[in-house]
Amino acid sequence: MSLFQAFQAFPALFVTSVVMLSLAIGSFLNVVIHRLPKMLERQWRDELTELNGAELATVPRYNLMVPRSACPACAHPISALENVPLLSYLVLRGKCKACHTGISPRYPFVEALTAALSGYVAWRYGFSWHTLATLVFVWALIALAFIDLDTFYLPDDITLPLVWTGLLANMAGLFVDLQSAVTGAIVGYLSLWLVFWAYKLATGKDGMGYGDFKLLAAIGAWLGWKMVPVVILLSSFVGAIVGISLMIFARHGRDVPIPFGPYLVLGGMSALFWGEQLLKYYLQSL
Ligand SMILES: [Zn+2]
Repeated sequence: MSLFQAFQAFPALFVTSVVMLSLAIGSFLNVVIHRLPKMLERQWRDELTELNGAELATVPRYNLMVPRSACPACAHPISALENVPLLSYLVLRGKCKACHTGISPRYPFVEALTAALSGYVAWRYGFSWHTLATLVFVWALIALAFIDLDTFYLPDDITLPLVWTGLLANMAGLFVDLQSAVTGAIVGYLSLWLVFWAYKLATGKDGMGYGDFKLLAAIGAWLGWKMVPVVILLSSFVGAIVGISLMIFARHGRDVPIPFGPYLVLGGMSALFWGEQLLKYYLQSL
């Protein structure tokens, strides 16, 4: 029996394998979340320097692979054994082995979240192309949500490929037909673009960023135009609840910006998993 046949015959084996793999993917997403914004910042600085006709300073290479991960407090290099997803954090009790400075619980959280969501996808859709595509979509959304939380920025390097891969997945009709996907990308982009300009003209302020339009374009490309209003409604609803709670409980100022990307991600994932049912209930209740 080949591995593929085993995955088909024993769904539990497939789900377990996906969960194990996704712990490692979650660990990689932590690197992307931490490093991609810094890499882009460097790139922009270099471009500016070149525009000004100045010499580029030679700095050590910095990308997703090098340098090796190190403790931010004492620069102790993190060995492979200290880098096992979830387990190392538990064994080290959340502290650097060398200097005992606390490690952010965000790292094991992202790993556990990635594994849990991926396990759910594998359990729900089984061993299929649909599962593989959905995993890629979910992983990209997780990275985007945390990068936006940290930096108020949704990098084109993730949002734009997510538009193309969504269209590609739907060329094979994995989620919706290609026409719905293309329309979804356009409607997704334009709807937030319109909200942005209406808000700007009314208040003179920027309510969200262009990254949000591209993210909703990507979600539209994956899930089709019908899900775009569902995603907007869900994310605005959750965003309003969290925003109001923050103002009341954390005395978060009214003018302190809150990134919209994480809410779009929540809305997008809800639409991915339960959008059809939500839409059906909504249309029935009309
Ligand atoms: Zn340390």
